[in-house]
Amino acid sequence: MTKIGHVEARTLAETYGTPLFAYDEEVLRQKMQEYRDHFQSDSLKTGVVYASKAFCCMAMIRLIREYDMYLDVVSGGELYTALKAGFEPERIFFHGNNKTPQELRMALENKVGTIVVDNESEARLLAEMVSEYGSNVHVLLRVNPGIEAHTHKYIVTAHVDSKFGIAMMNEEEVVRVINILRNCEGIVFDGLHVHIGSQIFAKEAFTSTVEKLFAFAGHLYDAYGIPVRTADLGGGFAARYTDKDAPIPTAEVCETILAACTEANSRLSCPVERVLIEPGRSIVAEAGYTLYTIGALKQTPNKLYAFVDGGMSDNIRPALYQAEYDAVIDGREEEPAAANYTIAGKCCESGDILIESIALPKAQPGDLLVMKTTGAYGYSMASHYNRMLMPAVVFAQDGTSRTVIRRETYDDLIALEVTL
Ligand SMILES: *Cc1c(COP(=O)(O)O)cnc(C)c1O
Repeated sequence: MTKIGHVEARTLAETYGTPLFAYDEEVLRQKMQEYRDHFQSDSLKTGVVYASKAFCCMAMIRLIREYDMYLDVVSGGELYTALKAGFEPERIFFHGNNKTPQELRMALENKVGTIVVDNESEARLLAEMVSEYGSNVHVLLRVNPGIEAHTHKYIVTAHVDSKFGIAMMNEEEVVRVINILRNCEGIVFDGLHVHIGSQIFAKEAFTSTVEKLFAFAGHLYDAYGIPVRTADLGGGFAARYTDKDAPIPTAEVCETILAACTEANSRLSCPVERVLIEPGRSIVAEAGYTLYTIGALKQTPNKLYAFVDGGMSDNIRPALYQAEYDAVIDGREEEPAAANYTIAGKCCESGDILIESIALPKAQPGDLLVMKTTGAYGYSMASHYNRMLMPAVVFAQDGTSRTVIRRETYDDLIALEVTL
């Protein structure tokens, strides 16, 4: 029997229906507390910024607020959600490689604290708007350190074609953009931002990033007199999806990063004052479960399918990049495996597979399948393909549960349609 926040998965399924996103609020709180406790330094100001795109809704944002964290948004929609949740605008960081003029205006009008500028045309547009509206805003510039990290691999490249940020190698361009920002009254240029990838297991990926970024900051000061007071190191901390994954514990990754920062800072004539990290996935992934009801089972010559009542519409990650997940049949967790199942959804795509192969006890129609670690980039990447309804999202804690996003209805589906 699987429990989520000390509530039986079966009870959640009976109460709210399936498919259902259920978050263990105790785990969410524990993850936030760990970052808060361990991303602390005697010599540097620190801040933990939740990358809301991993899972963004008002209830989640209120939790982030409760833990005194900062918040990343990358669109007007995420910003709107944050403001409606009562999040302090000055604690918001607005990212993105192509913020529209409307989004920038929305940010300035709502007094968003920091805008992370991605490129030269955005810097010019922002400077114009800030001057026109007479607003004040802090700005970081996203640079690309030429380090790319995904899962177990990290590579140091001369990768200059990323759609994000300006390559550090293009020093002249970086300096030109910073000067556009620094010459604008109303803009406070705080420093640099990097984000090297996601689901990163290698400590060296983070320490190399710190070394490169701090050395670059030192060079900007020594050669151009540009002080870099804030270094925002981005997110990418791994979560544990299956037994194959062994993420660096939060305390250890925080301590490693801060030690690298302190060490790198000791070599700078104008030290960095504040360091930020932006975890998304590592806060929400493991707290989340998706509950599905198993329907038909089908044996083909090479596969035994178990079909579930959701699919790529609520979790596109396996189809999109072969992400792997673990799952159990509720109530039969201890039974020995009887077969290898392919867990497939009900959408009209052959690629609509949630788990390619998993050993499970004999499954029957009506069984409750509990898929684990679905808390990040599941609901937030959900789609209406095949007019599937958005599942409900519930939080469970101390044996009780509450709906935070209600299940969509068929009426919701056609609500935007204009009938003549
Ligand atoms: C996606 C993203 C994050 C969070 O990444 P995770 O892998 O979820 O930790 C942080 N910062 C930026 C700029 C991002 O784009």
